[in-house]
Amino acid sequence: MDTLPPTPSVSLQRAGIVLPGSVSRAPLSIREGRVASSPASWAYRVDLRGHLVFPGLINAHDHLHVNAVPPLAHDAPFANSYAWIEAFQSHFEQATVAAVLRHPKALRMRHGALKNLLAGTTCVAHHDPWHPVLDAADFPVALVRGHGWSYALGWPSYGPPVKDSFAATPPDKPWMIHLAEGTDEAAQSELSLLDQLGCLAANSVLIHGVGLHERDIERIVEVGASVVWCPSSNLNLLGATLEPRRLHAAGCLTLGTDSRLSGARDLLEELHVAMAQGELSSAQLLALVTTEASRLLRLGSRGSLMPGAPADMFIVEDKGGAAADSLLGIDRSNIRAVVREGLPRIADPDFAEWFDAAGIDVVPVMLDGRPKLIARELAEPALMAMEPGLEAVPARPGQVYDLRMEVQQ
Ligand SMILES: [Zn+2]
Repeated sequence: MDTLPPTPSVSLQRAGIVLPGSVSRAPLSIREGRVASSPASWAYRVDLRGHLVFPGLINAHDHLHVNAVPPLAHDAPFANSYAWIEAFQSHFEQATVAAVLRHPKALRMRHGALKNLLAGTTCVAHHDPWHPVLDAADFPVALVRGHGWSYALGWPSYGPPVKDSFAATPPDKPWMIHLAEGTDEAAQSELSLLDQLGCLAANSVLIHGVGLHERDIERIVEVGASVVWCPSSNLNLLGATLEPRRLHAAGCLTLGTDSRLSGARDLLEELHVAMAQGELSSAQLLALVTTEASRLLRLGSRGSLMPGAPADMFIVEDKGGAAADSLLGIDRSNIRAVVREGLPRIADPDFAEWFDAAGIDVVPVMLDGRPKLIARELAEPALMAMEPGLEAVPARPGQVYDLRMEVQQ
């Protein structure tokens, strides 16, 4: 079996490559971790007939370090997020919650990243203080970087002060804040308040926006700011979510999961929840988590598979029809392979040769009951133990795991 050179060139062949607005049947070349404009003289070829290759999804809102914390059980919707935060304080003292929070923060951050990666999400906007682990070379996902943030207007004791943080953020970088996360008057007043503070601009990224009035939405459109729609979290906490069409039509909308404290399991599930709202088509929703997220979060060529873009992608079976429809009804265990910087990270066992050719050591695991191979650095026991549905496959005594056996299956 050939082994790839240190900067592997790869050619993905016979697949449908999902580009903005079209599907290309030409081979996709990957060189030095990026999509290449021309094929290399030598490349490892992956035959992907019957498959679609999507750009890695972009999750516009998460809190990576709290995805293993059990959600707060509650009977009735909260009027706003501040009521939820208040109710949450006693929840932190529960034994199960305290046990999760005893894990080192770096590990919890990696877990949040792994949650995203398993579902084809390769770039995340993390909304909380930066942490050194986010700069580690082996961190599982790419991140929105260089942005500014505040937490929320109604909870100023946490996170950078609103006006200072906004002023310190360059206009070509996003500035994020939770806003109008509620259905009551307090939530409904927040857009005007932010505007009065002088913190509503083209780079303002407003998370949630459930309490936005029509006139608020028009003001957002006027300045070219954006809103991150998190329907699962909104419906769970508030029993309501925003009406996305006007913001979508104006190019001011993207989609995020929030953490599992309130949101969906992952961005694939969030897409299904958004789809169930019946407001936007599958193709429109796909754009929200790829090209639109990239544009609004100032991520350059990320979110597409155009030449020069990071070779972050995921592969699924082509069900025929519109490309985005192949994501409907699938969950993370149906993803055939997730690729970052041109290298497979988790994939079905029949891709064993690709891992091997790239020199990536793998561990066999089960993901939601399906066998997968995962890169060894993502399979540390403490990390895997935090993710429900992801389990190591115990090796039988004396058995040496042989990749080639998997290829023959
Ligand atoms: Zn949030």
